[in-house]
Amino acid sequence: MMQVRYLELQRRFNDTELRKKLLAQLDTCQFIMGPEVEAFEANFARLCRTPFALGLNSGTDAIFLALRALGIGAGDEVITVPNSFLATTGAIIAAGATPVFVDVADDYNMDPAFVEPAITSRTKAILPVHLTGNPARMKEILEIAGRHGLFVVEDAAQAIAASIDGKPVGSFGDAACFSLHPLKNLNVCGDGGVVTTGSAALAETLRLMRNHGLRTRDEIDFFAYNSRLDSLHAAVANHMISCLGVITDKRIANAALYDSLLGTLPEFVTIPPRRPGVRQVFHTYVVRVKCRNELIAFLNDKGIETKIHYPVPIHLQKPCRAMGWKEGDLPVCEKQAREIVSLPIHEYLSDDQIAYVAEQITSFYGRDR
Ligand SMILES: *Cc1c(COP(=O)(O)O)cnc(C)c1O
Repeated sequence: MMQVRYLELQRRFNDTELRKKLLAQLDTCQFIMGPEVEAFEANFARLCRTPFALGLNSGTDAIFLALRALGIGAGDEVITVPNSFLATTGAIIAAGATPVFVDVADDYNMDPAFVEPAITSRTKAILPVHLTGNPARMKEILEIAGRHGLFVVEDAAQAIAASIDGKPVGSFGDAACFSLHPLKNLNVCGDGGVVTTGSAALAETLRLMRNHGLRTRDEIDFFAYNSRLDSLHAAVANHMISCLGVITDKRIANAALYDSLLGTLPEFVTIPPRRPGVRQVFHTYVVRVKCRNELIAFLNDKGIETKIHYPVPIHLQKPCRAMGWKEGDLPVCEKQAREIVSLPIHEYLSDDQIAYVAEQITSFYGRDR
């Protein structure tokens, strides 16, 4: 029986060139900041076509620090989505602000129609997530933010190298936050993150904030945090950036093959709409399916691993229920959470494996459902 694993991470790190670079960096004993971090920041800024990129120690800290650097904290509200990874909301809470969830559209991203009604006198920012690697509707979101004088912070953790009409994610908002977590399309062998911004002032604040507030070796402007990108990880990231084009193109090709094979089962499998001009990078390949849990068990028996991103909407997590959120508040997201499944999409899949997954899904629904 064919095996289709959800991930084959060991293959990304089984790279002689990468191992050579890692050992060379180890030999320098330059572990904190230095040339590899600077080179990575320049590479990353070029990739996102933003003036500034700051290496940080996680995607979660990237969101937290971006909010703090924009002056967002206690008493402020941040509008975001309930179907992201928990860290998006966790960072808002850690900053001292209050998350205000709005429902999503059929492409799993923030539905701009729900944003304006959610704005109050305390709203300071909109925090859309480019979920699955699909850019959120930035034109509409930026228009709303502009009308109301709100900041926009992109959670681009899943969307490195995605773009809208050729304009990369990370270049739309006041700040954008990326993750270099091992599972992300651009990764390191541990935790890492990046903030991009077009603002020199914001970049400077973030530069201080990630390093205790130190302006010189011995003097601070304000007390802050330790959230630097390790130099070893920067060396890994610099290598991985050179592989990102190939990785992204293969994921896009995999998704196109799935789209065409699964497109023949419209009564059972709903493929989210693909917008023209939008480059989706498929951190995940998420479809909505009938009899989701039975399908997952069936595929598992056929050697096919799947995941659910994410089974419990954030507004229904315990601490959000304590804030008053409940079932029925965000019906689109809640329905999607019951129907979504993430199929393997990684860059080491063969076309035969994708065809096998599609065949097994077809045969599952062929059994009279
Ligand atoms: C991975 C992820 C994060 C958090 O990034 P870390 O580097 O793991 O802290 C935040 N938001 C989204 C949407 C993510 O996928």
